[in-house]
Amino acid sequence: MTESVFLAELSWPEFQRRAAPNVPVLLPLGATEQHGPHMAMNVDVILPTAVCERVAQNVGGLVAPTVPYGYKSQPRSGGGEAFPGTTSLDANTFSLVVRDVIRSLGYHGIRRLVVLNGHFENSWPAVEGVDLGIRELRRDGINDMQVMRLEYWDFVQRSTLDRLFPDGFPGTELEHASLLETSLMLLLRPELVDMSKVPSDGPAKFPTYDRHPVPVGFVPASGVLARAERATPDYGRWLMDDHVELISNAVRAEFGL
Ligand SMILES: [Zn+2]
Repeated sequence: MTESVFLAELSWPEFQRRAAPNVPVLLPLGATEQHGPHMAMNVDVILPTAVCERVAQNVGGLVAPTVPYGYKSQPRSGGGEAFPGTTSLDANTFSLVVRDVIRSLGYHGIRRLVVLNGHFENSWPAVEGVDLGIRELRRDGINDMQVMRLEYWDFVQRSTLDRLFPDGFPGTELEHASLLETSLMLLLRPELVDMSKVPSDGPAKFPTYDRHPVPVGFVPASGVLARAERATPDYGRWLMDDHVELISNAVRAEFGL
């Protein structure tokens, strides 16, 4: 049938044939969240899915369907929930989705899992989901599920960040819908980016605390937290090459592939 790395594109006999216990399955965690006036709201779905696809090709793995909803957008890392269209899960719901997918994959014989996060706010609820998933499998007598959990953006060479940010890297939280994500989208899905709509109301100046409810004017009106106007597909290529190479190396090392 197909040599696709995407698990859901296989028939069940194909899955059964390819999903040996030593085959790593990658689970991308996304979000449906505003990414400024210049990009589509599925950035956090497209980017981790693309990284997982390339890593799976490198390591002989499979990619489970991306979780398209994430834990709630926070003002200081994603602009917050007030932007029209941002559609999120409660932390508990998100964790239970991750738990259930891990449990189900475990029942079907998967023993090596890479939970790859593409949305900042998902990090801790994903940890919870992994923990609950492993706990449920243990209760059912499956004790050998091994999980790596990571944020793809952590896998980048210092030299690449220095080339992209000659004046210093502002930090991952503020990079929401900014130079990194916009460059990666220009590389992968340029038709979903309109550089003529890149705003200039950033970078955001946040205090070192949250406010609930979120005061008017707390977040830049555009929803872009840093600056995106220097984004290019070449920058996206440098980033993607780093992400894929470094994550592939980590998966090989951790799982002895
Ligand atoms: Zn994003």
